[in-house]
Amino acid sequence: MPVAATQETALTEHAAPHLAMPGPILLLGAPGAGKGTQSKVLMSAWEIPQISTGDILRGLRNDPEKSVTPLGQQVCTAMDSGKLVSDALVEQLVLDRLAQQDTARGYVLDGFPRTLAQATWLDAQLAQQRPQVSSSLPVIAVMVQVSYTTLMRRTTGRRTCPSCSRGYNVFFQPPKNDSLCDVDATELVQRPDDTEAVFAERLRTYDSLTTPVVEHYRALGRFAEVDGGQAMDVVTHRVMDAIVRLRS
Ligand code: AMP
Repeated sequence: MPVAATQETALTEHAAPHLAMPGPILLLGAPGAGKGTQSKVLMSAWEIPQISTGDILRGLRNDPEKSVTPLGQQVCTAMDSGKLVSDALVEQLVLDRLAQQDTARGYVLDGFPRTLAQATWLDAQLAQQRPQVSSSLPVIAVMVQVSYTTLMRRTTGRRTCPSCSRGYNVFFQPPKNDSLCDVDATELVQRPDDTEAVFAERLRTYDSLTTPVVEHYRALGRFAEVDGGQAMDVVTHRVMDAIVRLRS
């Protein structure tokens, strides 16, 4: 392994750069870019929560009572076809989540804002908050950039064990035995929106709606881009560096 990569890996594993006030950090990237994985590292490094609108919406869809309501049905239809849920609904879910105490020092936004309307809504919400609360710092955005082929394989290859939640990828990290979990031999499952057709639609949606979000933060000077095609630890290191730079 090249010396530089080894050093970066060691740095990320042992010490996150000091950041007293992380504030709101937006991770941007197409489905499969590794936002979820990177979010989790940032959460534990800086002890801040992750707010993933995809996870919140999946919780709603998987709730037997909520999923049968008209709202739940609207969420199911949008998610299963790779389309976006309405801005108004997602904004309300985010508002509820931001009201919780654990967001006071900052938080990692994963999957929100995804449209220009959501981005300007969030900026306005944060501007209304008390200036001494660190979570009212302006949003900084870091984009994890990955090639189409890698995205496709990461997403459509993803499988999970419904019993122990262990994750696999049939291209990069396959189970030892066909489609069975290595730990408990349960049949692995694929997220309904990880199929090839839905993936292609999610990518189209992402490109058309999220590009203006990127341009919005770029124009405000609160944007950085990181090559997400490298080893996970290297990507983490670069993401953290970009965040510290944007906050200084
Ligand atoms: P994700 O796990 O972030 O890829 O989100 C899965 C799905 O949830 C998306 O394909 C959308 O249908 C929906 N979703 C997640 N976040 C948003 C958002 N900010 N705005 C609208 N729909 C969203």
